[in-house]
Amino acid sequence: MEDDDLHDDVLRQLETLRLSPERPLIVSDADEVIFAFVRGLEAYLLDNGHFMDLKSFAMRGNIRDSESGEAVSGEAVKSLINGYFSERTEHIEPVAGAADALAALSERSQVMVLSNLPLDCREARRRALVKHGMDYPLIANIGRKGPAMAYLAARQKAPMFFLDDIPHNIASVARAANGVTRLHFIADHRLRDLIGAADDADVRTDDWDEARQFIEGRLAAAGY
Ligand SMILES: [Mg+2]
Repeated sequence: MEDDDLHDDVLRQLETLRLSPERPLIVSDADEVIFAFVRGLEAYLLDNGHFMDLKSFAMRGNIRDSESGEAVSGEAVKSLINGYFSERTEHIEPVAGAADALAALSERSQVMVLSNLPLDCREARRRALVKHGMDYPLIANIGRKGPAMAYLAARQKAPMFFLDDIPHNIASVARAANGVTRLHFIADHRLRDLIGAADDADVRTDDWDEARQFIEGRLAAAGY
């Protein structure tokens, strides 16, 4: 699949959204922005004979076999992460401040979650969002996030904001939907120190209160 193609399964979900074009739209990633993905993954790995050695901002090369200490293959990383999603999606802890900040922002904006997770984990993630006070629409995305953001931007008149931890998603949104304000956000304290601000981000912030203030400031400046 080309980077700029919108996957049919994603399109079908986007078509079910009922958004107001005149109301600002905040689109947040879930893992490592709303949910403490890496902390939950570490626990899952330990329960399954592996551990994480956070040397770089990547899963590949950082997941090791508990007995041999060897980094596992890319295929094994994939299958461990799939296992984590299928067994634990509903139980990953929320990031501090996320629910409060989004609740405050939703007073003048629409909020939705755009998350790269297996389609069959979508309901579990929905339940987790509701359980933690974040009952917002959820789209299970496939591939980079620019195409879905371009779809939304084409239908939206009011300002849009995008939050994600992964630089290539920020870059993809910059290419596909340049009018969207992009926040680079990494919740995990260890991960956040491993990379600087993404080149295509408007701001780097790893704190929900600060993210809320930044978005509110931009909205006020734009007359919202
Ligand atoms: Mg993420």
